[in-house]
Amino acid sequence: MNIILLGPPGAGKGTQARVLVDERDMIQLSTGDMLREARSSGTEMGKVVAEVMDKGGLVTDEIVIGLIREKLEGEKKGGFIFDGFPRTLAQADALADLLADMGEALDAVVELQVEEEALVARIVGRSTCGNCGEVYHDVTKPIPADGKCANCGGTEFKRRADDNEESLKTRLMEYYKKTSPLIGYYYAKDDLRRVDGLAEMSEVKRQIDEILSN
Ligand code: ADP
Ligand code: ZN
Repeated sequence: MNIILLGPPGAGKGTQARVLVDERDMIQLSTGDMLREARSSGTEMGKVVAEVMDKGGLVTDEIVIGLIREKLEGEKKGGFIFDGFPRTLAQADALADLLADMGEALDAVVELQVEEEALVARIVGRSTCGNCGEVYHDVTKPIPADGKCANCGGTEFKRRADDNEESLKTRLMEYYKKTSPLIGYYYAKDDLRRVDGLAEMSEVKRQIDEILSN
C-alpha cells in the first residue's frame, strides 16, 4: 500500500505517518526530514537547501525528486507513506512516473484538512524530542517538568529553524500557491480522501485506518 499524506504545514502529516510506520510497517518518506538530514550532514546540496528552508521556500523539484528516487530503490516493507511530497504538480507527475516504473500503484491520497487559523498556533511553539521524534508544544503539550521525554526519557529537544511566524507565512503562501492545486489534481484522478485534521489524534488515525481498509 502506497499513500500520500497531503496538507498544509502543521496539519499533522508527520504525526500520523509515525503511527502508520509503527502499526503497519510502512516506510515514511518525508522530504522535509531528508532535507534536514542533508543540511546537518553538511553536504554541498545541504548548504544550498538550508537557506531556502529557513525562509520557508520550496527546494527545487530536481533536488527533492532525486531524494525520493533514491529512497524508492530501497526496501518496500508495508509500502510507502509520502509525507510532504509531492508539493508541486511537477513533483506529482514525477512520482506517478517513478511508481509506474516500479510497477507500483498509488492507493490513496489522504488530505488532512485543517483551518488556516489553527495552523499558526500549532506550529509556533512546537518542539520535538531529539531522540525519538515525539512532538511537544509549549501550550498544548509541554515538555514534562522533569525535562525528560515522556516517550523515551530523552533530554534533548529540538526546535526547527523555520517554525517561527515569519517563515511560516512563507510556508503557508507556498502551500496555497503551489501545493493546494494537488487537491484538485488527485480529486480528478479519483485518489483523494479527506480527513478532519482538527479532530483529536486518535480520531484522525481512525479515519485514516478506515480509508486504508477500503
Ligand atoms: P512542513 O510540512 O511542516 O512545512 P516539512 O518538514 O515537510 O515541513 O518541510 C520543511 C521544508 O522543507 C519546507 O518548507 C521546504 O523548504 C522543504 N521541503 C520539504 N519537502 C519539500 C518538497 N517536496 N519540495 C520542495 N521543498 C520541500
Ligand atoms: Zn523521546
